[in-house]
Amino acid sequence: MLKDSFGRVATDLRVSLTDKCNLRCSYCMPPEGLDWMPSAQLLTADEIVRLVRLGVERLGITEVRYTGGEPLLRRELVDIVARTTALAPRPQVYLTTNGIGLAKLAESLAGAGLDRVNVSLDTLDPETFKRLAHRDRFADVIAGLEAADRAGLRPVKVNTVLMRGVNETEAVPLLRFCLDRGYELRFIEQMPLDAQHGWKRENMVTADEILAMLEPEFDLTPDDLEERGSAPAERYLVDGGPARVGVIGSVTRPFCAACDRVRLTADGQIRNCLFATEESDLKSALRAGATDDELAERWIAAVRGKRAGHGIDDPSFLQPSRPMSAIGG
Ligand code: SAM
Ligand code: SF4
Repeated sequence: MLKDSFGRVATDLRVSLTDKCNLRCSYCMPPEGLDWMPSAQLLTADEIVRLVRLGVERLGITEVRYTGGEPLLRRELVDIVARTTALAPRPQVYLTTNGIGLAKLAESLAGAGLDRVNVSLDTLDPETFKRLAHRDRFADVIAGLEAADRAGLRPVKVNTVLMRGVNETEAVPLLRFCLDRGYELRFIEQMPLDAQHGWKRENMVTADEILAMLEPEFDLTPDDLEERGSAPAERYLVDGGPARVGVIGSVTRPFCAACDRVRLTADGQIRNCLFATEESDLKSALRAGATDDELAERWIAAVRGKRAGHGIDDPSFLQPSRPMSAIGG
């Protein structure tokens, strides 16, 4: 088991398949992009599957989420998903994507056994999209969402980050859009993880503010709050249900005490937290010929040292040097 010194057990593995992306969302990376990792540094598909297998077969991982960067840019994605869903015990396998290219790939991914997708969508206005993501790709994202739904990757989940002065007025229209289509919307508070270190607390639209915008328009009743467990979304039934909306207060309502996540970066480092300042290098060990036992030992030790919380509110908080796109969100 991957147990830390506070008794939390990691069962949810998030794997970044690439740090590359075809968008430039301003809360994530600068308009000019970043220096991408050289491809020799990225884990190969075989190396990824070996580590995921180890996690699933020996270390208690039950959920695997492929992310990035933009995971649809990884050519072997369908093959990696198929090899993951073939593992025993069979983990739940999810994908977090910006949706560009999903229109073409949704059927194959569903065929490979993918259980669900989260598609990021921050606005319903193509012009705002262009301003926010620095690319004119709104229509591709919408086509991706529709294809995922048609392919049965349901319920399609939508992730939204609101930013003051950019898209903060869209909370209500975005929720209506998702309700109309049977998608489940989750708002995520903006976290200090952008490569350009531009995060400012006063620009973050908080969970409280989001709820205050939604409440005049919808009847929101807390859903399974007492069973929130490790699920970061505080979920609400909308107008009596069954539709739901989630509000993830990663900064103002941290869920660190119930966190069950561990991350594998595209270059083979284990991170026990999004905000960790240390990593454990599985890739070098793997390429030096480490056995499964040796890799498992390193992984267990990496999780054991997990801190109690992210400490964003602590004056000594340091933003990690790796941006979100290189960690795997
Ligand atoms: N490219 C894919 C996408 O956008 O869905 C996967 C990677 S992205 C880093 C994963 C999620 O992290 C997205 O939903 C994105 O909106 C979110 N994200 C990125 N930077 C963030 C930040 N600074 N604060 C909160 N969420 C962020
Ligand atoms: Fe790319 Fe996702 Fe970051 Fe946007 S949030 S720039 S889509 S990695």
